[in-house]
Amino acid sequence: MVSQAMISVDEALERILSYFDRLEPEERPVPDALGQVLAEDVESTIDIPPLDNTAMDGYAVRAADTEGASEANPVRLRVSGELAAGYIFEGEVTPGSAVRIMTGAPVPRGADAVVPFEETDESSTGSDREFGTFAKSASEVGVLKAAKLGANIRRAGEDVGRGTLVLPQGTVLRPAQIGVLASLGKATVRVIRRPVVAILSTGDELLQPGQPVEPGKIYNSNAYSVAAMVRESGGIPRTLGIATDTVDALTAKIGEGLDADMLITSAGVSRGDYDVVKEVLAKEGDIDFWTVRMKPGKPLAFGAFPAGDRKVPHIGLPGNPVSSMITFELFGRPAVYKMLGKSGWQRPTVRAVAEERIVNTDGRRVYARTIVSQREGRYYASLTGPQGSGILTSMAQANALAVVPEEVAAVEVGDEVECLLLD
Ligand code: AMP
Ligand code: MG
Repeated sequence: MVSQAMISVDEALERILSYFDRLEPEERPVPDALGQVLAEDVESTIDIPPLDNTAMDGYAVRAADTEGASEANPVRLRVSGELAAGYIFEGEVTPGSAVRIMTGAPVPRGADAVVPFEETDESSTGSDREFGTFAKSASEVGVLKAAKLGANIRRAGEDVGRGTLVLPQGTVLRPAQIGVLASLGKATVRVIRRPVVAILSTGDELLQPGQPVEPGKIYNSNAYSVAAMVRESGGIPRTLGIATDTVDALTAKIGEGLDADMLITSAGVSRGDYDVVKEVLAKEGDIDFWTVRMKPGKPLAFGAFPAGDRKVPHIGLPGNPVSSMITFELFGRPAVYKMLGKSGWQRPTVRAVAEERIVNTDGRRVYARTIVSQREGRYYASLTGPQGSGILTSMAQANALAVVPEEVAAVEVGDEVECLLLD
């Protein structure tokens, strides 16, 4: 159903999201899966740590041997060897003996406690001794304090037991989860794949950055800001370059993007004579709606292009650089999140005290670029200068968007306003 009426932001988002589903899983190298969503339950096939090991540098002992030890009356133990992390001690800690042992080293057979250096006479007599230079035979150590059974021993499987569910399907992989997967010995992991987002800029006036300036032309910034937002939200941007403002040029370029999961165009959706995106969408695809009750960003086309047995959803962003960023933020980012299988795409919000008046002239939902700061436990919002939708630097300074509801004609100085935090 084509909606020619101006629809609300919420309805536009709902309609757009109805075109997207979670994508299929893929196997990825663990380090590359940062930010992706697990598509499998991950169980451990090993114990972590794999063996009982020492949490301290010190001496592996039999706790019973150290009973009654004190500074005044140390218990003397024969040192039968030395063990670094990564090695297994072949012998056994027999009564009256100890093994000098480094953090992470497996606890030798026979030992049931570790006495840290600080609780032996090595702390005063030989703590600066290099590892490996210890005279094994005829060495002794004095224990200055009785050790409790199991002291300073990390038990096998205390972090993860073999066979336990460590990360359930649906988990978002953050750095800690990446580390946990590596600790399980996994090199690859099954995750929902990242969506490919094709980005096409339209307009006879556009020049690619890197080209010399030309009279009447402007640099194509939208493809860059939108591609960066796609990447930041977890998608893979694929820029298609620039199409001139003709139906033929646009149709050909759009064809290059139809193997993507979503197609984004910028410009060509307002009422100007040369705004051809809507025309091509209406002719080659299905147009769903093209005006949203918001500012900036009223002209926003949405629909889908057929591509074989698929339909590629298409968001036609407005051309003005601020409008294209804000509309991608509100509609494109949630779509990318949905395809990734992620839920929490909503930005955190705060209620901030307006330090300037924010006007709403015609009953649309206004997204004003603001700097939100915190003083004495309250948030304050000030505008980032002129709010024209072509003034991209207003966006660069902003850390938040203040949202003025449709029915509010102005937020006065001192009023509270809801702000979406962008950082
Ligand atoms: P339009 O939607 O075609 O009416 O364009 C609205 C405004 O956005 C015009 O001033 C265009 O020059 C500008 N504009 C369009 N595309 C881009 C772009 N890719 N980068 C920067 N500005 C653009
Ligand atoms: Mg144009």
